[in-house]
Amino acid sequence: MSRHVVVVGAGPAGLGAAAGALRAGARVTLVDAAEEPGGQYHRMPPAAFGAARPGRLHHGWRGFERLRDRVLGHPRCDWWPESAVWTVERAEQGPPHVHVLRGEADGAGRERRVLRPDALVLAPGAHDRVLPFPGWELPGVYTAGAAQALAKGERLVIGDPVLIAGSGPFLLPVAASLLEAGATVLEVLEANPAATVARGWARRPWELAHQAGKAGELAGYAGLLARHRVPYRTGRAVIEARGDGRVEEAVTARLHHDWSVVPGTERTVAVDALCVTHGFSPQLELAVAAGCLLRGGAADAAFADVDADQRTSVPGVYAAGEITGIAGAPAARTEGLLAGWAAGGGDPGDRAAAALRRRRDRARAFAGRLAAAHPVGAAWPGWLRPDTVVCRCEETTYGALLRAADGEAAGSARAVKLGTRAGLGPCQARVCGPTVAGLLRGRADGGDPHHRPVAQPIRLGELANPPVEDPEEKESAR
Ligand SMILES: Cc1cc2nc3c(=O)[nH]c(=O)nc-3n(C[C@H](O)[C@H](O)[C@H](O)COP(=O)(O)OP(=O)(O)OC[C@H]3O[C@@H](n4cnc5c(N)ncnc54)[C@H](O)[C@@H]3O)c2cc1C
Repeated sequence: MSRHVVVVGAGPAGLGAAAGALRAGARVTLVDAAEEPGGQYHRMPPAAFGAARPGRLHHGWRGFERLRDRVLGHPRCDWWPESAVWTVERAEQGPPHVHVLRGEADGAGRERRVLRPDALVLAPGAHDRVLPFPGWELPGVYTAGAAQALAKGERLVIGDPVLIAGSGPFLLPVAASLLEAGATVLEVLEANPAATVARGWARRPWELAHQAGKAGELAGYAGLLARHRVPYRTGRAVIEARGDGRVEEAVTARLHHDWSVVPGTERTVAVDALCVTHGFSPQLELAVAAGCLLRGGAADAAFADVDADQRTSVPGVYAAGEITGIAGAPAARTEGLLAGWAAGGGDPGDRAAAALRRRRDRARAFAGRLAAAHPVGAAWPGWLRPDTVVCRCEETTYGALLRAADGEAAGSARAVKLGTRAGLGPCQARVCGPTVAGLLRGRADGGDPHHRPVAQPIRLGELANPPVEDPEEKESAR
């Protein structure tokens, strides 16, 4: 019987992994919580919206369609849409068992399934990171990811006019999505000064030739902004949102390179909605539950650690895409192809695999450039006031966090969290985890913002039902 590879996530990395494993001769189960494959990059309106056509913003759409059709139409591929992996369970031998909730979230046919693969590829991607500032919890303040998901996936605009602020190239596709969906974008603010952005992007210029596609894509967004006369300003950020019951004004200010505010440069802008992003946080919970080692030092900047063939530290578990580093969709797809080839038992000496490794390394260089051009300045906590909410689920304020860290819970991040409940609410620190870890650095040790044994919500009733075993799984479990 051929090797069974389970791939979690059907974004660029997961689709690549499925293709790689199929090419190596494996049987693949491709699992994604979403209705359609494509992940964040190739997000489309649901099928119920009628025959959807990719917009101008769906770069590399043809290539995506070819990959999708090749994978999903393959006789050895079993595609599980609307299937959330809620946990992985370490096994005595071999890779962890994969626990899946299969079927529409509130649908009657939803069932628990357990997969016991010969190899597991984790490709769950990232979510966008937002730093807190006074008023960020007001209705009308959106993460850029949510604003883009609504524009790209539901054809809805979050408001009109909109101000977009934060850091990173992601500001540009978000602005483009909002413009295409019909909103007026007042301005796009990049917090890093022009010199930092220019120095970062100019790093290792000889590699730029290999990233012509990405450069062309960014140039396309810049052209769209110019046509709509949307200013792109560097060294400026939103440091406060104000309004009576919902956002009405954004306070912007010039920043030094460390993101401290230049006094006297504050400006108030009337807005209908505000859209913010400060980078991405990898979805590491499944990797952590599987026991994979992380790299990256500080817990709030960690990624899954992988070798040259995308193997994690756990035998039989591979990782690809944004959970190994933020480098864009082409890098994610190439990592996926490599991970799938290795997971499917492909020959590591294969010439195509060697070419993929070289392509992956070049694409990864983009990650270094991105990190250098758009760092998060260390002085951002200066925007906070004692009453600024840091954990929105539990309404823990910055002041409460500092009092606990400097007082009764001194030294222990775990004690600070138990004392203030920061990160213990419904989102289980997905939003505030990296922020709290950053704010406590130097004040308290311990705690892992990625430790979340239950990766997706599951009802007690669903948990009480025994899982359904696949016949082929039962065979291999014997
Ligand atoms: C909100 C957001 C918007 C973005 N928009 C753009 C853009 O417009 N342009 C651009 O260049 N880059 C964009 N990016 C970055 C881009 O998405 C990535 O470079 C690329 O998509 C990464 O591919 P991936 O396969 O690693 O992850 P993703 O594309 O994120 O795919 C991960 C997939 O895993 C699934 N998944 C996650 N957890 C589970 C689970 N527990 N069970 C089952 N399925 C799961 C998700 O549903 C998703 O389909 C965006 C990123 C984010 C987070």
